[in-house]
Amino acid sequence: MPLLTKSKYIVGLSCPKYLWMMFHDLDKIPAFDPSTEYIMKQGNIVGKLAKQLFPDGIDLPEDDFKANIKKTQELIKQKKTIFEAGIISGNLYARADILEPVGNEWDIIEVKSSTQVKEDHIHDVSFQKHVYQLAGLKIRKCYLMHINNEFVKKGKIDPNKLLIKEEITAEVENVIVGISDRIDYMMEIVNSTEAPDVLIGKGCSNGLECISEDCWNFLPEGHVFELYYGGKKSLELLEAEIFSLKDIPDTFQLNSKQQLQRKCANTGETHVDKDGIKKFLATLKEPVQYLDFETFMTAVPLFDGTRPYQQIPFQFNFFVNGKGYDYLHDSKEDPRSRVLLELKKVIGPKGSVVVYNKSFEIGRLREMAEVVPSEKEWVENVISRIVDLIDPFKAFDYYNPKQKGSCSLKAVMPAVLGEDHYKKLNIGDGGLASTLYFEMMFDGGKDVRSDLLKYCQLDTEGMVWIVRELRGMVG
Ligand code: SF4
Repeated sequence: MPLLTKSKYIVGLSCPKYLWMMFHDLDKIPAFDPSTEYIMKQGNIVGKLAKQLFPDGIDLPEDDFKANIKKTQELIKQKKTIFEAGIISGNLYARADILEPVGNEWDIIEVKSSTQVKEDHIHDVSFQKHVYQLAGLKIRKCYLMHINNEFVKKGKIDPNKLLIKEEITAEVENVIVGISDRIDYMMEIVNSTEAPDVLIGKGCSNGLECISEDCWNFLPEGHVFELYYGGKKSLELLEAEIFSLKDIPDTFQLNSKQQLQRKCANTGETHVDKDGIKKFLATLKEPVQYLDFETFMTAVPLFDGTRPYQQIPFQFNFFVNGKGYDYLHDSKEDPRSRVLLELKKVIGPKGSVVVYNKSFEIGRLREMAEVVPSEKEWVENVISRIVDLIDPFKAFDYYNPKQKGSCSLKAVMPAVLGEDHYKKLNIGDGGLASTLYFEMMFDGGKDVRSDLLKYCQLDTEGMVWIVRELRGMVG
């Protein structure tokens, strides 16, 4: 008998086809990437901290399904606080993070590593409440326990301060209406041998982040989901069965950048606005320097003075006058002051500091200056010299259809250089770099030092090469 769990119910709300695939075609669902697995691990760490707030709670085995259900029944009779209380009712199975007795009633407390209550969380708890009530439990109140984003670590983590217990009983009551019908509909899908017909779009990026090839491979090269900030427009076009950027009619409202994309899709040519590029290049002052940081973040802060999910710089690459400099923090200690002081050794007093997407680098520089207040003035001077290389791409002074509507460095570099250098590396994106660094330093992961150095170096060298190409375009 197929069992509908709370996580499958949540999936079913976003995309019935994904739900069907979970039962019938698991191979077509893309595996979690290391960055997603990392986020899940962070969730487990938060879950363990939350349990500390219930010292009398009894932790039940998660992997032994039958034992979990049997033990839950026993503990309910004894009115104990239960972690991972599994209850089955018909073909529905729910397991709350924390089930707490209050007289003859029970409170559900769901723990999430987010910093606020999200719609999915309410549905998640509504499913649990529904199943528990079907099994005869009286549910008094529902809570979501989530991270307090104003928390700043000072000494040992106090879960009472890190976590916020927010009541969501009324919200759950609102969304629980009609849940039986929704479950019946989902069970029809689950029991069908045919996958439901679902239009790609909303569900794919709405929490599921699912790009199953089975659903997406009908789209041609240069498709409407590549529209720059396409959002609803891409969905409208899809619904009108217009799949290619080339086929977007003149009557369809596009902004000037999106019109340029359509033009490039039709001509197959790259758009180059020489005046725009010249203006950008004129902002570069010699010696032109290039800087890139790598960072990691954790739900539960590791270092005093940091917040949950604060980006902690652990590495930089810096390039000037044909020479590159690296720093990779090789210790479990807070890297921020060391990174800043190492940077001060190489950044010169004059000239532009080129970065890609400056708000990130500026944010990290200011945060590091908080740890070394004596360097605040120097940091502000560096910030005043920052030039953002994303600007000519965001302005569409240059647009190559190979960018697929993206201005990220990972999209721009191969388009401008005609070669994807990231493909040659073991680490090809910042998410993987931070995940592997964290695992190496704090979780017994493999040694990735040399891969990290190569990756960060490419981000910086790539900027050098892009500027060289831009200069070549304007003669
Ligand atoms: S790609 Fe989109 S439509 Fe297809 S299963 Fe995944 S979420 Fe659903």
